[in-house]
Amino acid sequence: MKYDTIIVGAGSAGCVLACRLSEDPKHSLLLVEAGPDYPDEALLPPEIRNGCRPAFTHDWGYRSEPGALGRTIALSRARLVGGCSATNGAMALRGAPQDYDEWAAGGNPGWAFADVLPFFRRLENDADFADRWHGRDGPLPIRRDPPHALLPEHRAFLQACTAAGFPAVADHNAPTAIGAGVLPLPRLKPPVANMISSGSSSVSSTSIRSAHGFFYPSARARSLLVASLTLTP
Ligand SMILES: Cc1cc2nc3c(=O)[nH]c(=O)nc-3n(C[C@H](O)[C@H](O)[C@H](O)COP(=O)(O)OP(=O)(O)OC[C@H]3O[C@@H](n4cnc5c(N)ncnc54)[C@H](O)[C@@H]3O)c2cc1C
Repeated sequence: MKYDTIIVGAGSAGCVLACRLSEDPKHSLLLVEAGPDYPDEALLPPEIRNGCRPAFTHDWGYRSEPGALGRTIALSRARLVGGCSATNGAMALRGAPQDYDEWAAGGNPGWAFADVLPFFRRLENDADFADRWHGRDGPLPIRRDPPHALLPEHRAFLQACTAAGFPAVADHNAPTAIGAGVLPLPRLKPPVANMISSGSSSVSSTSIRSAHGFFYPSARARSLLVASLTLTP
């Protein structure tokens, strides 16, 4: 069989690409993934649903080279449809503007912060901020835990940061944000008070990940997905 496009890896980027490219009914597409596919969020194994730590049951098992003390560390890389977006912390945190500007200055046109900002805006539906830095119409819902939803240890941490002289930051995606504050997270609904922490809130079924947030059922039907390939190492 022949395809217009073959995407190897149905990870964070692969799912989005498959979803967008398959919108053209004349464009044939093969999406290949080495790991398993859980087409319904309800089918996700508990360790994938629990986003507090990398899910090593669905991981390539890479380790670093030994460091100066001879130790290696796990370099987690997910192996399933959704890729690392299925196992990561799901923070919707942009990079620092000066980093993008450095990339552009280093010979990568189109990567300056002013160039990428319109794409961040197109991606986002920010429930907390509506200004020139944030999008309101995109497919990715973004929220920050309100003060009443923070756990006591979070409040204590933020108070300690303030006492140590770090400015309070209401929005870590603002270009000037330096200091301490709650993280922006991709979530459909506001959190339930004291039920979920900033870190673990991404595990709730209301969070958005590539496989389920972008690789909609309609896109699955459009793309020919081949999962669970047997690969030789
Ligand atoms: C533990 C962890 C926490 C993170 N937390 C955050 C966070 O909170 N917020 C954030 O924005 N980013 C976070 N990241 C980073 C983010 O998840 C990655 O940068 C992003 O997912 C990379 O996307 P990708 O499409 O390049 O690769 P991946 O999402 O890794 O997708 C690659 C896919 O290709 C498949 N594949 C690889 N080789 C083959 C092959 N030969 N044949 C077939 N399939 C293959 C893999 O199985 C995988 O599914 C985190 C990353 C990790 C590991």
